[in-house]
Amino acid sequence: MTKPVLIRIDVDSVEGMNNGIPYYLEVFEKYGFSASFFIPFGTNNIVSAGLRRMWQPAFWRQFWYMKPWRTYRFFDRRFAGSVEIGLGHPNIVRDIREAGFEVALHGYDHAYISDNAYTMGEKDYSRQMDLAVKAYEDTLGEKPSGSGTPAWRFNEMIARVQDRLGLRYASDMIGQRPCRVRVGDYLSSTVQVPINIDNVFPLVVRFGGDHKKTLDYLKRQIASRGDYICMTVHTEYEFVHFHRELDELFGFMAENGMRGERFDRFAQNLDVESLPVEDVVLLAYDGAVGKVASTHRFESLIG
Ligand SMILES: [Zn+2]
Repeated sequence: MTKPVLIRIDVDSVEGMNNGIPYYLEVFEKYGFSASFFIPFGTNNIVSAGLRRMWQPAFWRQFWYMKPWRTYRFFDRRFAGSVEIGLGHPNIVRDIREAGFEVALHGYDHAYISDNAYTMGEKDYSRQMDLAVKAYEDTLGEKPSGSGTPAWRFNEMIARVQDRLGLRYASDMIGQRPCRVRVGDYLSSTVQVPINIDNVFPLVVRFGGDHKKTLDYLKRQIASRGDYICMTVHTEYEFVHFHRELDELFGFMAENGMRGERFDRFAQNLDVESLPVEDVVLLAYDGAVGKVASTHRFESLIG
């Protein structure tokens, strides 16, 4: 029997939309995998976001390893007319669905949410999500099933706004198993499908830029998980710098009886009433700017 691996592709830039998505669709077809693409429908102004983050040490670690000048074409006029990621590329969004994959929400303005999630008001955040939902519905003609906040941001305000959307699931944090979450005194009604595999880029930072060590670590981590395996990859770093290793990783998974799966299909079969309730904590994470949400301490993720 094949074991499902929930694979989420975060499309965090216009460059990722144009270049990364074709790569993933091809490699998933090769292995017969399914997956979910998490797309911010609005802009993600990484240049102004970078300027705002420059005083934080994590930014410079990111900058050194990410080599953004190879990922993003800062001065390429071809993209000047379409700065909106999902909204600017409706045909690509529809192609993803036509190819049999899920499209999920990933905020509206990605950089704005990751920079301001912990200080912004409920009205402001609601507006972001309403814009995202409307753009999704206008593009695909149906309601979204799932959402993941940019940069694993989560707090009570985000939970309240999200619950009002009535989504089938959200994937906003690191954790060990599907659950419902309590944040402060508030019990969220939206099912969480948390990530339990490290992101590629933080591992690259941890291993001093060594891709072979990163790949071997990911293989061991995936093999060590039980029945629940849930991972995120991006159309930026992973596609530009790590695509050969990623191809090998997916091949390793296929050889070991694993198959990529969509989040919505998985969430559809969950018995919501019997899910455990977990408390959310905010923690620092290698290579990430700002704190990320988790249902447990990272030691068990990194082990
Ligand atoms: Zn993202």
